[in-house]
Amino acid sequence: MINFNKPPFAGREKEYMVQAIDSNKICGDGPFTKKCNGWIEKNTGTTKALLTTSCTQALEMAALLSDIKPGDEVILPSFTFVSTANAFVLRGAKLVFVDIRPDTKNIDEALIEEAITDKTKVIAPVHYAGVGCEMDTIMDIAGRHNLIVVEDAAQGVMASYKGRALGSIGDFGCFSFHETKNYSMGEGGAILIKDADKAEEAEIIREKGTDRSRFLRGQVDKYSWVSLGSSYLPSDMNAAYLLAQLEEADTINEARLASWHGYYEALEPLQEKGIIELPVIPEECKHNAHMFYIMTNDIEERGRLIKHLRDNDVQAVFHYVPLHSAKAGKEYGRFHGEDKYTTDISSRLLRLPMYYGLSSEDVEKVTDAVRAFYL
Ligand SMILES: *Cc1c(COP(=O)(O)O)cnc(C)c1O
Repeated sequence: MINFNKPPFAGREKEYMVQAIDSNKICGDGPFTKKCNGWIEKNTGTTKALLTTSCTQALEMAALLSDIKPGDEVILPSFTFVSTANAFVLRGAKLVFVDIRPDTKNIDEALIEEAITDKTKVIAPVHYAGVGCEMDTIMDIAGRHNLIVVEDAAQGVMASYKGRALGSIGDFGCFSFHETKNYSMGEGGAILIKDADKAEEAEIIREKGTDRSRFLRGQVDKYSWVSLGSSYLPSDMNAAYLLAQLEEADTINEARLASWHGYYEALEPLQEKGIIELPVIPEECKHNAHMFYIMTNDIEERGRLIKHLRDNDVQAVFHYVPLHSAKAGKEYGRFHGEDKYTTDISSRLLRLPMYYGLSSEDVEKVTDAVRAFYL
């Protein structure tokens, strides 16, 4: 069976985890966490990066840092994972969903401005499949309306828009290091913070609302409760696992891109015949091969293709149930404008196996099975 996903493993994970254990310092913010934070800062150009226990929690931190109050509105796509929405709803926000673009499946930047009301506080673009949203337009809208931009860059590590790393463009960026993402620590994530003033606030929120980070740096002689917060920092053992992969990020990225291009080239003839559609990467975006998906013609055809692939030992999956159509989505949000693409795309999109270590033979086996289905 060719699995849809396998957690990434670069080679030195066990060695680093043993080092973390032997150092008798396995709680948060140890040497491996600091190295991972440093790697993110260096490789994205962000002012401050802090590892978190998940992207979900990085998004929750971003909602706290955005000072979301009950009734504030957040503009986001409906075609995303629940965490993009939950983080803001937990602080009392109302969700305003807008449609996505048919090419990148990202939020349609041309529809954002008309969804803004006097309650809007945040725009939360999601870089689907590690392909950047149209960030110049989004930042321009945010600037003119005095809004905060929280990038859900869960899928966007090592990807960029006009040369700028995804996650480093908005006020806050959120990475995921879940086992299904390009780089992993089992469960984990990071928050990227552009504004230096917000960086200290973020440290406090992440350390249960205390100024413990300042205390550990010797800047204050005791630490105490200074604001609302929670525990958002991961164990240094998990960070040790992650560091091994970040050190090999170029190798992992190139291997994934090779698989991605293998898929694209083998399936391009089907696209040329008008049978399926393949991903579109705008010229200003450098993606990270987080995902390879194809667009089938309808939900029924997709179901048959999944079964055909399963019969050929290939696991293919789909997502997302549009948030605005889900029980909680209806309760906490509304869809602004017409749902021209969100529901349609979510019913036709199919993801093929993609992970570090997928061989060119595996890619060939998958694409042969897809071709056999259609030809
Ligand atoms: C994976 C993912 C998340 C959640 O990441 P966790 O680290 O599992 O919390 C959030 N948003 C998007 C778009 C994702 O793909």
